[in-house]
Amino acid sequence: MDESLVLLIRQRMQRALDQIAEAAVGCGRDPRAVHLVVVTKSQPLEVVRMAVEAGATLLGENYAEEAAVKIAALKEKSEVEWHMIGHVQSRKADLVARDFNMLHSLDSLKLAAHLELRCGELHRTMPVLLEFNVSGEESKYGLPAWDETRWMDLLPELEPMVQFRSLQVRGLMTMPPFFTDAERSRPYFRRLRQLQDFLMKRLPQLDWQELSMGTSADYTAAVQEGATYVRIGQAILGLRPA
Ligand SMILES: *Cc1c(COP(=O)(O)O)cnc(C)c1O
Repeated sequence: MDESLVLLIRQRMQRALDQIAEAAVGCGRDPRAVHLVVVTKSQPLEVVRMAVEAGATLLGENYAEEAAVKIAALKEKSEVEWHMIGHVQSRKADLVARDFNMLHSLDSLKLAAHLELRCGELHRTMPVLLEFNVSGEESKYGLPAWDETRWMDLLPELEPMVQFRSLQVRGLMTMPPFFTDAERSRPYFRRLRQLQDFLMKRLPQLDWQELSMGTSADYTAAVQEGATYVRIGQAILGLRPA
């Protein structure tokens, strides 16, 4: 293992943690309420190993098959939690139920029903976040939530989840359009927070506590707007291989 690269990853991770703490304290929040997910998608196994060596414990992956190989290779690392943050097709529900500790990107009742079934078969529970598209950008996954006059329309898709036993709704997630200026992401983070308030009122049978938002480009703004999970890849691991 390249020890100088481990050191570099460790330093970048510490810098991100320091900035998260500073942003949290600056707005009166407890820094311990914000969890860092290190996004290892598209990174080779060797880099994932170095991230774990550097102290990363929550790892984010986007593709179930790619992740399955890494998860199998690192299964002796019992401190590591694997978080699925990418779009999941219903037919991949079995892979996600088998391998992941948490799903951030649940975006349909159909997928939820598949996961509920698979997790039930495996006698396990799975914490999940509902992904919402709060920007209206077409390339983004997530339940449509950019028009707040239509938030009521989301409820029929969410209400059946109250009955689920294996799937445990814990909160909301979003991925805004990419901006280099973090201030342009802020309105979308704010809208997700407002949607959280709405859902807490309208569907209090589910737990909406967690907010997964913010990437390398905008995580301090996300923390200021209430993020409890930030998902950071390139600012810690460097550019992803093409
Ligand atoms: C890739 C990705 C991230 C991390 O992006 P970086 O720019 O590497 O910080 C976060 N969330 C999701 C959903 C992603 O796909």
